[in-house]
Amino acid sequence: MNNNTLANIYRPKSFKDFISHDNGDIDLIKHLISKNLHSNLNNNFSITVLLIEGPPGSGKSSLSKLYAKATLCPNRPKEEYEPCGDCDICNDKDTSNIYEYTIKSSTEAREVVQKLVEQSYCSPIRTTGREDQYRQFIILDELENASAELISSYLLKPLEDNPNTTTWILSTMDLEKLERRNPIVKEAITSRATVISLYKFTEEQIANILEERANIQIESGLLIAKVANGNLREAWSIVSKIAIISGLNPSEFKTEVVGNYLFGGITYSVRLSLWEALKNDDATLVKSIFKKWSTKISQKIIADLLVEDLISFINTPNKNSQELLFSLTTWYNSTIKYDLSLVFLQYLGIDFIENKVVKLKPLAVNNVSNINNNLLALAEKKGKVNNLNKESIMPFYLTSDSISDILKRYN
Ligand SMILES: [Zn+2]
Repeated sequence: MNNNTLANIYRPKSFKDFISHDNGDIDLIKHLISKNLHSNLNNNFSITVLLIEGPPGSGKSSLSKLYAKATLCPNRPKEEYEPCGDCDICNDKDTSNIYEYTIKSSTEAREVVQKLVEQSYCSPIRTTGREDQYRQFIILDELENASAELISSYLLKPLEDNPNTTTWILSTMDLEKLERRNPIVKEAITSRATVISLYKFTEEQIANILEERANIQIESGLLIAKVANGNLREAWSIVSKIAIISGLNPSEFKTEVVGNYLFGGITYSVRLSLWEALKNDDATLVKSIFKKWSTKISQKIIADLLVEDLISFINTPNKNSQELLFSLTTWYNSTIKYDLSLVFLQYLGIDFIENKVVKLKPLAVNNVSNINNNLLALAEKKGKVNNLNKESIMPFYLTSDSISDILKRYN
């Protein structure tokens, strides 16, 4: 089982399965298929060149394939967009009208792109009698690896005079790289193409996809999603590695198994040792713990885990976590020399208004961005009372980066 296989096995076979952010661009593609807008000669509005842009693992390749297969699927009822998922086209057995190429380097790509351009002027292979399915697709991935010269000498003209029976689907994870290489070329491409934008998956979306398609428990999926950082392909690759190492079927992944693989055994109870050391301001111990962990997992993941611990301290205020937090506020206070302790106290539901201690409802903090928003809201509120303004609180945004910076002091 290799990574590609798993990502391919679980590739969405229908638009229903294609999970993305609420995105009008996906609706546009559904319209192209169901209303046959790509080849409607009587319609001035016809789209035959698409540029799909989005970060790695955001579904560019899945969407390209889905678009092509749904259009060509012989079982798709006219004026619908969902492919059947069962026929040879849907199952990649019949690829007669789909040409795919991933650009790795310009030098290698030149000959292939030339051939694809020749192909683009040819008629599609007649597979079914339906007019809306008389179409060929040319899918060109990783356009950012093409030089400006390759694009301008081989692609621009053909994209301009593209025959109505050919659809080009170009995709790139880095529109900015394309722009840096040559802004004029980027402009030329985007002015010829309809740009479809995809976004990074959220951790919840990835966890849901892993659950739906491979029966992975949500808690385990969330851990995998955290490390995959919005990249679905990376998430599948992690799943297949864990399956190989543990010998388990993905549906049997327990959080301990996943946590052990992902976080090198740095479980919550193990992390408490770091928190205790931070609380006691024991620099030598912090340094040695951190050094030991750094060999197992990245600093960013350590920092993320610590942010989560903080959130759980705040959300489950028992004696122990309160003590830990109060000590931490002192530690922050003495280490950073600013009044961050106030912020921590406010997390616990304690606010200071005009030097009086007021009990407030504890803040709902579910994730880091919520914390950041709360921080900002509090900072704005305090600004009126204590002269704490946005700028003075900004440097203390509680992010994995800021914790990472703090940890660096011990390196
Ligand atoms: Zn089909």
